Amino acid sequence: MLIRKPDFYDSFRCLAGGCPDSCCKEWQIAVNPEAAARYLALPGQLGDRLRRVLCCEEGEYTFTLENGRCPMWRSDGLCAIQAALGEDALCHTCRDFPRLRHDYGDFAELGLELSCPEAARLILSCPDWGYVTRELPEGEEPEYDREAMDILLRTREKALSLLEENRPVPEIFTLFLLYGYQAQGELDGEEETPFDPETALETAAQLARAADFGEILEFLAALELLNPAWGDHLRRGEFTLPGKECLPLLRYFAERYWLQAVSDLDLACRVKFMVVSCLVIRAMDGDFVTNAQRYSKEMENDPENVEALLDAAYSHRAFTDDKLLGLLRGLRC
Ligand code: SF4
Repeated sequence: MLIRKPDFYDSFRCLAGGCPDSCCKEWQIAVNPEAAARYLALPGQLGDRLRRVLCCEEGEYTFTLENGRCPMWRSDGLCAIQAALGEDALCHTCRDFPRLRHDYGDFAELGLELSCPEAARLILSCPDWGYVTRELPEGEEPEYDREAMDILLRTREKALSLLEENRPVPEIFTLFLLYGYQAQGELDGEEETPFDPETALETAAQLARAADFGEILEFLAALELLNPAWGDHLRRGEFTLPGKECLPLLRYFAERYWLQAVSDLDLACRVKFMVVSCLVIRAMDGDFVTNAQRYSKEMENDPENVEALLDAAYSHRAFTDDKLLGLLRGLRC
């Protein structure tokens, strides 16, 4: 099995007590059954406390939040379980976060989640990162559609190469979006054709229509949020054309989501999701990296919100192709 990971992957170190946000805040932490069994059998005060805060519903264990925080989070920002029993005693969720693994059977891609502040700093401060690959003896027979995966691997590489073009960033975003539609056509059975950026930009200019960016912000602010104040922060966003800082962000989304289209062969919606996410993060007032991290925590880490965004990419009037192309040309109403 081939394992591929970004070259900054192993340099991640949790900020622990120095973290400006923390994965122990706001999230309901799922505890794997083995860890839950160990916690429930622990003697002493720590065991008593764990038995009080571990909640089981339909066989699924979670920690009951106290004041919006994991009850094992100490006032110094450290974890009471880790402090007493070591890192090996953590449940899978806490041990793995923010490490991501997309396992396709015969190959796997590792990455870091943008929703962790330290991971966000690494992802967004290394625009030219490379990959480290290694072959492991493990692995399974893949169940994915091989032809579709070949198209997705090839087109993702091309899409990522567009991010390196020497052009104004809004043009790069436009090409990325239109190339995503072309790649969707190939997934749907169309012939592979060369992608001509100049023709694509002419097409974009013809299709582009003025858009109300506030509709996108309002849609996102109405989703299920961990922190309602973040919805107000979203609503105050002011549209700005994407700048250079958005390129590593778009790369992060492309690396993470492009291949996932192998599950349902729906790439176009994912590409829209990637572009809209960058535009929204760019629009938000304040520090870009912090906004990206919060966006990821609120949107990406909630599967229902991701699903809602992908559905909106299909059917919401604010997410139509002509309006997204219009936004990328600065046309607003
Ligand atoms: S969010 Fe990241 S840096 Fe912060 S405590 Fe969690 S893993 Fe550590």
